[in-house]
Amino acid sequence: MRTVIVGAGLVGLTTAASLASIGHDVTVLEHAPEVRAAGAGIGLWENALREFDHIGVGAAVRALGERIDTWFFDPAGHPIRDARYQDADHQFLLVPRPGLNTLLADTVGGDRIRLSTHVAGFTEHDTYVAVHLANGEELHADLLIGADGVYSGVRAAMLPGSEAVEHGGHYAWRALVPSEGERPEGTVLTIGTARTRGGYAPVAGGRTMWMVNQFEAGELVGSKRDRALLRARHLAEAGWHDDLLAMIARTPEEAILENRIMLVPELTAWTRTRVALIGDAAHGLSPHISAGGTLGIEDAGVLRTELAAGPDTATALARYERSRRARFAKVREHSTAVELADGAAEFAARYAAFSHWMLTTAPAT
Ligand SMILES: Cc1cc2nc3c(=O)[nH]c(=O)nc-3n(C[C@H](O)[C@H](O)[C@H](O)COP(=O)(O)OP(=O)(O)OC[C@H]3O[C@@H](n4cnc5c(N)ncnc54)[C@H](O)[C@@H]3O)c2cc1C
Repeated sequence: MRTVIVGAGLVGLTTAASLASIGHDVTVLEHAPEVRAAGAGIGLWENALREFDHIGVGAAVRALGERIDTWFFDPAGHPIRDARYQDADHQFLLVPRPGLNTLLADTVGGDRIRLSTHVAGFTEHDTYVAVHLANGEELHADLLIGADGVYSGVRAAMLPGSEAVEHGGHYAWRALVPSEGERPEGTVLTIGTARTRGGYAPVAGGRTMWMVNQFEAGELVGSKRDRALLRARHLAEAGWHDDLLAMIARTPEEAILENRIMLVPELTAWTRTRVALIGDAAHGLSPHISAGGTLGIEDAGVLRTELAAGPDTATALARYERSRRARFAKVREHSTAVELADGAAEFAARYAAFSHWMLTTAPAT
């Protein structure tokens, strides 16, 4: 089976390795000149790590990351956990994104990844799909996978009018900085006033990742550092998190990532006979549930399982679409509930309800 995957992001690379493991002849097309990994660290939950075990990199990914035991805090620094949920519902692995993507690219193999290759569109035929490259070249494949992120061109061609939309003025600021003896009790997430969240967590290699988010962030003025500091002050009542403020203040401007959060609307279809969407291309989510990448890796496991089960590509894709759309309908319900939580205690309870649900209902692949 000749399979072309558009996008060498986290999910495209994982999908390539997953489908190679069942014998697909995979080619990954990436328009950037290198396998990039914008972003500081990514929190990966156990359901994602299982797919990494399947493709043989689970131990290496665990060695790259730091196990984080999430505690939620109110702006005065009081720790909050909902007693109905267990430690396991609060634990994930924080992995530096560049190291992760490099590991995955090495697993797929450089000879299977074509960089500086922009996909301009595709045409489905009875017996193959033609992938049109911006340089005029045409590749023929049995299966085309759009793993090309929130602004997916494969999705736009499949479903006109499905453009990503802004998530209500939601912005995120993040950076990796050298650790300076931050308090372990300061990790991970304070739910502040004015719809802010943020905190920090250790990342392997003597570094700490800080992050600050705000829904309805309003006008952005000043440097990225000023913007992040302004929001972080909502997390730092009565001296709690002065260390976070100091960390942001000492972060070089160029090291700060600022993201306007975009969402992919619920789609009416994820597949065609020979084409499938995966990862953010299918379901770009808000990061306030820290699980979009994890669930994209889960997509790869389900797609692999269904394609291996056959009997033909179209039937397997239809099963993949049915199960993923049903799962994401629930994800969206949880995501909205967490977003609308009133205060730190409700946020913590709804977040734990989501992670518990995600972990305990993850598909066996
Ligand atoms: C602030 C923030 C924090 C987050 N935190 C977490 C977290 O803690 N845990 C978690 O699980 N998830 C998290 N997420 C979500 C996670 O980052 C994404 O779900 C994940 O990175 C999506 O990966 P992807 O491979 O689907 O898409 P992308 O990483 O966007 O990759 C798409 C790739 O396709 C390429 N491409 C696009 N168009 C074309 C084209 N036409 N031709 C060729 N190549 C193309 C792009 O260059 C890119 O390399 C967070 C997101 C944000 C914004």
